Amino acid sequence: SLVTSGHLRHVESMAQLPSGAGKISHLNAVILGEALASEENDLVFPSPEFSAQALVSSPEQYQQMYRRSIEEPADFWSDIASQFFWKEKWHPEVYAENIDVRKGTVKIEWFKGATTNICYNALDRNVEAGNGGKIAIYWEGNEPGQDGQLTYAELLDKVCQLSNYLKHVGVGKGDAVVIYLPMLMELPIAMLACARIGAVHSVVFAGFSAESLAQRILDCKPKVVITCNAVRRGPKTIHLKEIVDSALTDCAKDGVSVGLCLTYENQSAMEREATKWQEGRDVWWQDVVPKFSTKCLVEWVDAEDPLFLLYTSGSTGKPKGVLHTTGGYMVYTATTFKYAFDYKPSDIYWCTADCGWITGHSYVTYGPLLNGATIVVFEGAPSYPDSGRCWDIVDKYKVSIFYTAPTLVRSLMRDGDEYVTRYSRKSLRVLGSVGEPINPSAWRWFFNVVGDSRCPISDTWWQTETGGFMIAPLPGAWPQKPGSATFPFFGVLPVIVDEKGNEIEGECSGYLCIKKSWPGAFRTLYGDHERFETTYFKPFPGYYFTGDGCSRDQDGYYWLTGRVDDVINVSGHRIGTAEVESALVSHPQCAEAAVVGVEHEVKGQGIYAFVTLVEGVPYSEELRKNLILAVRNQIGAFAAPDKIHWAPGLPKTRSGKIMRRILRKIASRQLDELGDTSTLADPSVVDQLIALSDR
Ligand code: ATP
Ligand code: MG
Repeated sequence: SLVTSGHLRHVESMAQLPSGAGKISHLNAVILGEALASEENDLVFPSPEFSAQALVSSPEQYQQMYRRSIEEPADFWSDIASQFFWKEKWHPEVYAENIDVRKGTVKIEWFKGATTNICYNALDRNVEAGNGGKIAIYWEGNEPGQDGQLTYAELLDKVCQLSNYLKHVGVGKGDAVVIYLPMLMELPIAMLACARIGAVHSVVFAGFSAESLAQRILDCKPKVVITCNAVRRGPKTIHLKEIVDSALTDCAKDGVSVGLCLTYENQSAMEREATKWQEGRDVWWQDVVPKFSTKCLVEWVDAEDPLFLLYTSGSTGKPKGVLHTTGGYMVYTATTFKYAFDYKPSDIYWCTADCGWITGHSYVTYGPLLNGATIVVFEGAPSYPDSGRCWDIVDKYKVSIFYTAPTLVRSLMRDGDEYVTRYSRKSLRVLGSVGEPINPSAWRWFFNVVGDSRCPISDTWWQTETGGFMIAPLPGAWPQKPGSATFPFFGVLPVIVDEKGNEIEGECSGYLCIKKSWPGAFRTLYGDHERFETTYFKPFPGYYFTGDGCSRDQDGYYWLTGRVDDVINVSGHRIGTAEVESALVSHPQCAEAAVVGVEHEVKGQGIYAFVTLVEGVPYSEELRKNLILAVRNQIGAFAAPDKIHWAPGLPKTRSGKIMRRILRKIASRQLDELGDTSTLADPSVVDQLIALSDR
């Protein structure tokens, strides 16, 4: 059967572990009689008090629920789905899928035939349940002291007004709307307003250039673009409207003219008088939206009607336009949010991601609001006015669940503990990480310093494509291992396959695939179903291929090792970039590292490491040697970097991920083949690195 193969056996043996055995954070635990030497294999147990109050409080309970989710997926998910409002129930089946390209077109459907509305479930349902007075959003502006808030009832009113306005200007079911807004409350409001009337939103991160925005507008041909005149991010003012103007001009040249640009006047950044304006096309939000009724009937849509379109981060190349539908996404984001963060109605939840990324869709907006949670939306930059800002916000709103990315953890760690310890952080109860593998040393800092060795960390592995968490700890159930995303979420059946696509069992490493569909899965790449099949379903027929490398240890824990394209083969040893980077970052003077493979005459591939140092530390020959030594000691001589390249800054996507494909080109001096750099946060880093190549 499905469950006796692969990791469930491990899950079963893990169940024999002493759960809740106290706060052991630096002790090497003994598992199944086998002492684990490496520090990476430390087990960190949730405290007994935490486990006792948790939604899932033991490995056995997880195992029982997981088993049912795999053996009886239809029953498992329809029980959960019944907690939501459906105008009509699904029929005839809970789900239908073909993910095997050899059997024909790939097709995934959940709750097909049912009608519902995700905005209704997130807002009206909570208001009708008597929670209209509960705070839905605490908004924190760029400047300390600048803030706002909305209750569920107030949020519903604002959403309805915008929905009515959009309907008034002719936006209807199935029409696309592009949203290019910073983290104002108006961003989730705009998303929900689209969802309410069945329009398909395409949020574009408001840090993207005019060119990237134009590309996305050309792709979905929206009736309306929603933006604001300007925003302040840290000490800088960014004129968003001017970027939109230039994107719209370019689009018109390519035959796509957008007739309406709804512009929110963000007074704290810029006065309306100073804003460039195109009469006839541009409309001030504040002039029109408040005139509309605060009541707006819901458009009931099929569970399989599209909800939104969103592009991947572009870490590996040209971004892919991922399409998500309504019903399955709703059920999946709500359920993953609830369990992975052990959510309770009294929690105050803050996710630092921008709504321009999938994390902001699933875990700023939809997942939390579907649970009736109170969320914090932060407009500013996490180190403005100084590196203590996050903890200032945590104390101000009594944040209990804090979800962020390794890139932020590493940068705050580099700035020093004093910025953290200055604040109380007593309200914190669960921490979370997403976006890249989190290095064990960064994990420990996050756990020990930020969470005072008290808060479990949910290291959530997932993708724009997956809609929600796929591999993530249930914080009260599992002892954690720093750097491992632990075990699969309910209904997710991960497998590790070799180059030929054969499943490998037990302790192993290879390519991470998923064996069956889950409700939150994307349904296609917008306008390109063929690329959808080629990219994700053809590499290993019969599976969804994630593009990520992964290993499973002797206890069944999953460790993401980076993208498969990034795996380096040194004299026949397959080495994941994440492992080498972790070893480098464990050196106290190394703040960040990015490792790529380069051609090597003898070894096939050699290891080339870019390193960023802790603030104020000079790069020296001695440090170079010590960094190499750190890798030799922790992994082995075969993984020792052949070259260390000092990098004051690394090329990152705008979501903060390291773009290794550019580093590969720099390392192998193929400077005319840098490829698409439009999703880089700071393109000048590239020239700086090239200039430092020969040091
Ligand atoms: P593109 O697909 O355009 O190259 P991307 O893969 O960076 O961009 P996302 O969908 O935002 O776009 O990111 C998903 C990827 O991020 C995963 O495939 C994985 O490589 C990485 N990732 C996310 N969370 C984790 C995590 N907790 N641990 C390890 N890796 C993670
Ligand atoms: Mg990807």
